[in-house]
Amino acid sequence: MKFLTRNTLSLLAFVAPVLGQVLSTNCTSSNAAAQVCAELQSDLGSAIVEASGAEYDATSQGTWSLFNSLDRPTCIVYPRTASHVQLTMASIFQHKSHYAVQAGAHSPMIGWNSINDGVLISFANMTSTSYNPVTETVTVQPGVHWGDAMAAVDAFGVSVLGGRASDIGTGLLLGGGISFASPLYGWSADSIKEMDVVLVTGQFVTANATNAHADLFRALKGGANRFGIVTRYELYAIHTGTKEDKNWFGGVIVYPGSSSVALSNASARYIREVTDPKAGLVVILNTVNLTAVDANTVYLFYNGASLPPGIFGDFLSIPNTSQTLSPLSYYDISNLISGSARGNGQQFGASSWVGDEGTFLAGYNHLVNFTQTFPADLIASYLIISPIPQSQWAATAARGPNAIGDPGVAYATINFNLIYPAGVTVRPQDVDDGFKLLLSQTPPSPGLPLYVNECDASQDVFATYPDFAALQETYAKYDPLRFNVEHTVGPIGL
Ligand SMILES: Cc1cc2nc3c(=O)[nH]c(=O)nc-3n(C[C@H](O)[C@H](O)[C@H](O)COP(=O)(O)OP(=O)(O)OC[C@H]3O[C@@H](n4cnc5c(N)ncnc54)[C@H](O)[C@@H]3O)c2cc1C
Repeated sequence: MKFLTRNTLSLLAFVAPVLGQVLSTNCTSSNAAAQVCAELQSDLGSAIVEASGAEYDATSQGTWSLFNSLDRPTCIVYPRTASHVQLTMASIFQHKSHYAVQAGAHSPMIGWNSINDGVLISFANMTSTSYNPVTETVTVQPGVHWGDAMAAVDAFGVSVLGGRASDIGTGLLLGGGISFASPLYGWSADSIKEMDVVLVTGQFVTANATNAHADLFRALKGGANRFGIVTRYELYAIHTGTKEDKNWFGGVIVYPGSSSVALSNASARYIREVTDPKAGLVVILNTVNLTAVDANTVYLFYNGASLPPGIFGDFLSIPNTSQTLSPLSYYDISNLISGSARGNGQQFGASSWVGDEGTFLAGYNHLVNFTQTFPADLIASYLIISPIPQSQWAATAARGPNAIGDPGVAYATINFNLIYPAGVTVRPQDVDDGFKLLLSQTPPSPGLPLYVNECDASQDVFATYPDFAALQETYAKYDPLRFNVEHTVGPIGL
């Protein structure tokens, strides 16, 4: 294994190509945004288009990652209807302004949900959720957070495939989306029945699996913010029972740092061997302070009365420092993690690994090595392991393809999550360079797609999708002038 030092990093910084997307900001783009804001203020009014004030501050400074909360948009548009988004995009397109879109504000990728010298479209005022018992679908507006959406339909005994933390927003769907029930029902995006979409020109279309925009429908399920702005999601409800129906069992187990290797091995084996779609798991190993008694956390659930030892035995037998296990509802397990804490700079990086102990251990050791190279720069450095069993893809197949694409093998998405100390507003260059080296040392297992919601902005995620060519073709069809990639920050590679 190659070890990092600050010296090798400064060399790397010198030779490494800069892969991240940077929009060029100059007088022209500032002027364009100012023109759009003036035009929209006149058309939509100052309650919808704001250039300052308490709501403006709350939105621009309220992103999950501190790094994105320092940007000051030229104005923020708070649409109430799809037609407001149409008008906004038409003006942005006409004046060639830069722009960004914000839903739940959890993306830590710099500039993916925030902007300087540009227009920010915030869905903070489009947050409704409704259930139609006839079609058995839940319609959500893009500004809702999953905890609120689930609470809104709970009385009907149904829920939605959202995320595993209540504060996350609907941007999750556009990257794919992993719920604790995904092994049963598929990627959260697979639960979309229909979407209303505003294209870069301001044109409004409705996309579903069978209409003339089926190609766009597929591309949006994994294509992140590149294919249009979604103003309505109609989702197939999942029949979970209410929050009083404790038909799951599980909870959280906390382990000392000395458990890391055993947990890494247990995770690899779980990924390789567990095929039961009723099982849900996420493993979080923290490589800062390896001697802590509460270094590692595992969330484990089973849609049944207990945790079957044949599935969770390894995790249950590793010595732990505390455990809270009980009967729970789907609502409970999806709200156990809030994810709402703010105030720190955050960074994600992605890999995808098949269930092989050697791959997991090598990846874990690389992260430990990276973390120990920067002992004072990070307050947490997590390896987060999420299983993607083949049952998840079987559920996808039943609904029609998404953009990510079944690689034909069980694997785990790997999220390297760095948390910087409060008050650090800029990522230190050598830490950033070290992180890119870490990502090159821990590549995806051959043939596996990366998960765009967990990637570093420098990672070419779309090129890892088995049907990347179809995604490129659809992008060229819906945005032939390449306006989106040139005017908003998001995944690279299209
Ligand atoms: C604490 C935490 C927990 C997480 N847990 C999970 C989990 O359990 N499962 C999982 O799959 N992922 C999880 N994630 C990752 C999460 O899916 C992504 O961060 C996701 O992008 C967040 O969506 P958002 O709406 O909250 O964020 P935002 O930053 O607002 O949006 C994310 C991206 O989507 C774009 N976007 C949002 N809405 C629209 C729209 N309507 N039209 C066009 N573009 C849009 C934004 O411009 C941005 O680029 C977690 C992240 C965090 C920080």
